[in-house]
Amino acid sequence: MLRNKANTAMIRLHLHPERHLVSRIGWLRAAVLGANDGIVSTASLIIGVAAAAAKPGDILIAGVAGLVAGAMSMAAGEYVSASSQSDTERADLAREQAEIAGDVAAEIHELAGIYMKRGVDSATADTVARQLMAKDALAAHAHDELGISEMTTARPIQAALTSAATFTAGAALPLAIVIFAPAPWLPAPWLVVIEAIASLLFLALLGAVGARAGGAPVWVATIRVTFWGALAMALTAGIGLLVGTAV
Ligand SMILES: [Zn+2]
Repeated sequence: MLRNKANTAMIRLHLHPERHLVSRIGWLRAAVLGANDGIVSTASLIIGVAAAAAKPGDILIAGVAGLVAGAMSMAAGEYVSASSQSDTERADLAREQAEIAGDVAAEIHELAGIYMKRGVDSATADTVARQLMAKDALAAHAHDELGISEMTTARPIQAALTSAATFTAGAALPLAIVIFAPAPWLPAPWLVVIEAIASLLFLALLGAVGARAGGAPVWVATIRVTFWGALAMALTAGIGLLVGTAV
């Protein structure tokens, strides 16, 4: 019976290979962060300018400028950060390559030591290290010694484009409210209220979608994202009011 169960479990595993969510986390994190940033910063900017009793045309200009500036800043930031990670990885790999070329025996010993620390006996660890290094010595050391794999490798251009695109998609939502809300007939205070409510709904939706895709608890993520968005908007609205009355 037990054996049978194990067999069916194995067959099921074989038929439906488990899709690990961890492999999605890199781009998912970047996409959710970009869209979240786009919504929060653009909505806050619009609310701040609108609270200072600006004209509808000025509010729209501020929103568009915020979108372009934010997308460029996200792209540049991601590019620089991913590039420096990529430089470090390349330097690590070059040093590892030199070490392997210099003293193979020491490197086999080093790799075997890593497997022994994980609980493998010394004879097996030595065999595994030798076999892995016979296939691709650098890949074996990159993966098990440096923790660098295909999945974790930094991709600067991809990171920059993803961030800019998702920021723009996020920023387009609060901007659409300014364009499509009947701004000329609508007094500024109402635009602030509509913008805030709509943007919080967008944020809640984004938090829920991101959590679902990442397999995380939906309510926690939704509340987290909405809370920080609400805080940012409340702060800029307050500062907009202050500056608006001062000017
Ligand atoms: Zn090594």
